[in-house]
Amino acid sequence: MRALSVHTRLTLWYAGALLAILVVVSALSYSLLAWSLAQDVDRSLLTVAKVVRDASRDDPIDATEQWLRELLDPEHQLIQLLDPDGTLRVRSRGLRGDRLPLSPAARQTIVEGRPAFETVVMRDQRVRVVALPVRHDGRLVEVVQVGASLRPTERTLDRWVEILAILVPLAVGLAAAGGRLMARTALKPVDDMSQDARRIDAEALGRRIAVRGTGDELDHLAETLNGMLARLESTFTEMRRFSADAAHELRTPLTALKGTLEVALRADRSGPEYREALASALEEVDRLVRLSEDLLLLSRSTAGPESPAARVDLESLVLDVASVGARLGKDRGVVVRVGATAPVAVQGDAGALRRAVLNLVENGVKYTPAGGRVEVSVAEDDAGVAVAVEDTGPGIDAADAERIFEPFVRLDAARARETGGSGLGLAIARSIVVAHRGTLTVERAITGGARFVIRLPRA
Ligand code: ADP
Repeated sequence: MRALSVHTRLTLWYAGALLAILVVVSALSYSLLAWSLAQDVDRSLLTVAKVVRDASRDDPIDATEQWLRELLDPEHQLIQLLDPDGTLRVRSRGLRGDRLPLSPAARQTIVEGRPAFETVVMRDQRVRVVALPVRHDGRLVEVVQVGASLRPTERTLDRWVEILAILVPLAVGLAAAGGRLMARTALKPVDDMSQDARRIDAEALGRRIAVRGTGDELDHLAETLNGMLARLESTFTEMRRFSADAAHELRTPLTALKGTLEVALRADRSGPEYREALASALEEVDRLVRLSEDLLLLSRSTAGPESPAARVDLESLVLDVASVGARLGKDRGVVVRVGATAPVAVQGDAGALRRAVLNLVENGVKYTPAGGRVEVSVAEDDAGVAVAVEDTGPGIDAADAERIFEPFVRLDAARARETGGSGLGLAIARSIVVAHRGTLTVERAITGGARFVIRLPRA
């Protein structure tokens, strides 16, 4: 079954709610009208009964019927006079030989001196009857009974029901039509937005959803979506550039490998020549392996921590990385040492954090000329935990301080020195740190070298 559109659902809810309200109001109006009509009937019955009582008290009994004939329309009036014991004394012609009944309960009320009302059925119609006591010297001498058919009241109520039966559906129908129109108008911008959104795909990420400028919720939604599109667009552009750079990085060693093999195959070579060609090929393969490992590492660290977060002791991590760095530095004449430390811990993936710090120490060793020094330290302050890797190398210009964290970015001087790096080391380190809700920045050290600082929230 096709899902109902929002404006149809809104209209249905609106019409349903209105119908419920109108039904309740109609039921109330019916009850109020019925109650008020019943009051009117009782009041007029009592008035007539009092007139009759007063007349019968003043006139001789024989004259009463005569009087009734003259005063009231005897064809329609239902009036009778009873003796205190219930014997019929006089009745109007409207009764046509019938008697207005008097229930024991009503008789009791009369004996107590109060008028008694009751509803009876006579000649297939409901009749309201009032019985009024006539007292003389405190003694009950007569009972006046006046009745009136309830048919006019019932007819009025029936007509009210008929009117409601026409008015309620009419009101609900009109309100539903109006509500549908309103819902359509209100949701039109949403339709427009989804049309706009449908036209946006990977090839047309530069398109935006139209903002109407009304400043309402829908404009906010459009702005939010446009913000999201802008972020997606820049991520997409970044990814494209990354793929192009990665392809380029892969092609360089592959081309070199191909060239080496082609040259080796072009003619018959001696054993040492083949060995040399194979060694050169192996070097290129090594570069490819390193590059693909780094790419894998970057994509993993971007995806977030692999193992569940655990407590990582940063002090021992730094000591361990420094000893690895010291071994690397020995070959290049660079001293790697541990500076100030503190027993601090963070929550995270120990392996990944070790990789991030090691990348910084490796870079320090790589880019610091022989005789230089790399120092690793760990400290704690109010903001959290900081691991710093500082060297006495050439340092990094402020203009490059952000750029170097992008994948495949190598600074020219460094490139010229042919360090053999893939340009992914800092990108990997930063994405690991960011996954740990931290930051990785670079500044100029007092010695003029580079000072990389990892800041992490405390465990
Ligand atoms: P690479 O594999 O080239 O080392 P990185 O991402 O680790 O890639 O570093 C990016 C670039 O940043 C390097 O090519 C180098 O130019 C520069 N860089 C990194 N660390 C240092 C440092 N300690 N001193 C000077 N330059 C550095």
